[in-house]
Amino acid sequence: MFIKSFKLNKSFILFSIICIFIVTVIIIVSIMYPFSIHANSDLIWDNTISQETEEKKYIKWVDFSVCYDALDKTSKLDINSHNKDEDIKYNWIELLAYLACKYGGNFDKFNQKDLTSLTDKLKSGTTMEELTKDLKNYSYYYEAYDAVLHEFIGEYEVEQAKNTELDDKTFTTKYGIKAFLPIAKNYNFSHYDDFGNARSYGFKRVHLGNDLMGSIGTPIVAVESGIVEALGWNQYGGWRIGIRSFDKKRYYYYAHLRKDHPYDAELYEGKIVKAGDVIGYLGMTGYSTKENVNNINVPHLHFGMQLIFDECQKDGVNQIWIDVYQIIEFLRKNKSEVVRENNDTKDYTRRYDIIDPTIPE
Ligand SMILES: [Zn+2]
Repeated sequence: MFIKSFKLNKSFILFSIICIFIVTVIIIVSIMYPFSIHANSDLIWDNTISQETEEKKYIKWVDFSVCYDALDKTSKLDINSHNKDEDIKYNWIELLAYLACKYGGNFDKFNQKDLTSLTDKLKSGTTMEELTKDLKNYSYYYEAYDAVLHEFIGEYEVEQAKNTELDDKTFTTKYGIKAFLPIAKNYNFSHYDDFGNARSYGFKRVHLGNDLMGSIGTPIVAVESGIVEALGWNQYGGWRIGIRSFDKKRYYYYAHLRKDHPYDAELYEGKIVKAGDVIGYLGMTGYSTKENVNNINVPHLHFGMQLIFDECQKDGVNQIWIDVYQIIEFLRKNKSEVVRENNDTKDYTRRYDIIDPTIPE
């Protein structure tokens, strides 16, 4: 009896140990399980976060179709009304955004009559707020066009004819176009609206800029003041420069720069450049994983403009590149004259300096 009960106790203890072991394992597994799920579901987790960030309100897409005629006429209204100190000072971005509402963003429909009718209403005392309060897309177009054209017109100081003997710089304050054509003054180029055309090199993709055909070595100038964000070789763009505006909304891309001497010697990543500064030289580099290779058939500057409303749009699938053909036509109005002053580096510099109030101290 004693022996039997001992045997029973022994097996009972063994049974209990096994049970405790199983229960412990179940408890440990059930505690660890959510962590293992979490670790394996990082993608889902990130998606949830990005879905949340997507709920932040920012513009996801812009089709910039404002024609040269509309840019020309509204810019003249803006500039003249400021320079003549008229009672009503027009803001060309407001005028364009108003017209965009009328045309559904399609400026093929642009008609001078619509612009005249708008300025007549403004002259008669109706405010822009009153005119746009029922236009549900006005704020979208205003924000989109402002992102494109924010620094194109404004006040700046420009150097007057240089007194070389005294090396005196005299600046005059002006209100007008302060963005420059990327091709320096007195250099020829040709272009056509090639935005969205198919490209054969590399993966199947479309052309996200405008090609300005010109001679190798043509000085390239910065369209707008900003910070050099990218500088170096890129398989598609060859030697290229990326410049970001100070408000971070515009990224200017200048590609296929000259073999052996693509950039101004003093350019570096992080440098602040002024609108109209010489940044590089036209060439035919690119379409190669190997650096400094001329693989482009026709020498040209590839000029691109990317809009960034949220940093997640800088890289990856959410990028917004706009058609800059009409903008290039508009910028023909303001060219930067350059001179070759440095015989050691063979670099060109701008002839007339500017003081751009948007450049941070
Ligand atoms: Zn191109």
